[in-house]
Amino acid sequence: DWIGVDELIGSAVTRLQRYEPHARFDVRLQAGLGPIWVHPALIEQALFNVLENAVKFSPPDTAVVIDARRVDAEPGAATDQVLRIDVSDRGPGIPEDERARIFDMFYSVERGDRGRQGTGLGLAICQGMIGAHGGSVVALPGLADEQGRRGTTIRITLPPIEPVAATP
Ligand code: ATP
Ligand code: MG
Repeated sequence: DWIGVDELIGSAVTRLQRYEPHARFDVRLQAGLGPIWVHPALIEQALFNVLENAVKFSPPDTAVVIDARRVDAEPGAATDQVLRIDVSDRGPGIPEDERARIFDMFYSVERGDRGRQGTGLGLAICQGMIGAHGGSVVALPGLADEQGRRGTTIRITLPPIEPVAATP
C-alpha cells in the first residue's frame, strides 16, 4: 500500500507509548517526504522493534530522536534516492565489534547494567522485514551530546519502492 512516512512513524510511536507512557520522542521529518509503497504492518513493526530498544536503553529524561529524510543513494545503486530513518538514543551505545551481531537471532550484548532481558529477536525480525523490502538496517554510533557522549543510532534505509504494474 501507499502510506505516508509520517503515518508509519506516528503509528509505531503511538503504539509504543501505550506500553511506555514516559517515553519521549523527538520526530524530525523532512518536509514533502511523500508516501512510500510498502507492506505497512511489517514496516511499522520493524520501526516499533527499533524504537522499543531505543526506549529500553534511554536514560530517564532523554528523548529518542527519529529523523526521516531522503538522501542520495550509494553510487551504482538502482535508484537515485533512498528513504533514511535514523533512530537515535542516548543510552550506553553498542561496542563497534558487536554492531553487526545484534541483528543475529537471540543475540544480546552481555552487560549487567542493561535494561531487562528480551528474546533477542527484535532486530533479527526488523532486518528480515526491511530486507524483504530491498532495504537495509545497520547500527552506528549515536549523536554526540554536549559532553561528547554517544548512544546508538539504528539506521533504516528503504529504496523508493514502486507498485508492481498489473499484468495485462
Ligand atoms: P526482543 O527485542 O526480542 O525483546 P532484545 O531487545 O534483547 O529482545 P534485539 O531487539 O534483537 O533483542 O536487540 C539485540 C541486542 O542488541 C539487545 O539485547 C541489546 O544488547 C542490543 N541493542 C539493541 N538496541 C540497542 C540500543 N539502542 N542501545 C544499546 N544496545 C542495543
Ligand atoms: Mg528489542
